[in-house]
Amino acid sequence: MNKRAWAKQIAAILDQYYPAPAIPLHHKDPYTLLIAVLLSAQCTDARVNQVTPALFAKAPTPHKMVALSVEEITSLIRTCGLSQRKAKAIWSLSHILIDKYKGRVPGSFAALEQLPGVGHKTASVVMSQAFHEPAFPVDTHIHRCAKRWELSNGKNVEQTERDLKRLFPRNSWNKLHLQIIYFAREHCPARGHDANKCPICKYSST
Ligand code: SF4
Repeated sequence: MNKRAWAKQIAAILDQYYPAPAIPLHHKDPYTLLIAVLLSAQCTDARVNQVTPALFAKAPTPHKMVALSVEEITSLIRTCGLSQRKAKAIWSLSHILIDKYKGRVPGSFAALEQLPGVGHKTASVVMSQAFHEPAFPVDTHIHRCAKRWELSNGKNVEQTERDLKRLFPRNSWNKLHLQIIYFAREHCPARGHDANKCPICKYSST
């Protein structure tokens, strides 16, 4: 089977398992999504979802966020890890949103990637989930699965993103990135996967 046909088969299996994958980070608009995604760096989504209700109760907008001190933000997000660095980035980017974008989150990769604490993956999640622009944010789960499924060589996340974008139709990227994350977490963990129970590998061997 060639790679494109294999990718199509994987997408069909993922559609059966996760027909309408929910966005895992709780948010109510592009700003709260941006902050939640920034907090999720080196932290689990579950932990971020425990922290954001108190944070967003105090600061649901950039204007309210900059009214807090960096120390206050740090203490609200402490359990997410890297809290000082993340708090500084949240405070600074909120200031930039007010100064340059009338308090709104810009809907462009280039503008997002210039914000403090926002890299290509974070920008891709926001573009995909808040603005519904085709994007394929590659995290560690997607990187691992793409290599195991031999859709990419696992060299680096940039290469994986390029390979997956080439193999899957553009209009499927936003859904697929969530489906692969859910599949990886539930069935294809970094250690201890069970090939005998795996729907994808079972299919690949037929
Ligand atoms: S066999 Fe293992 S590595 Fe392959 S897709 Fe299934 S869980 Fe992942």
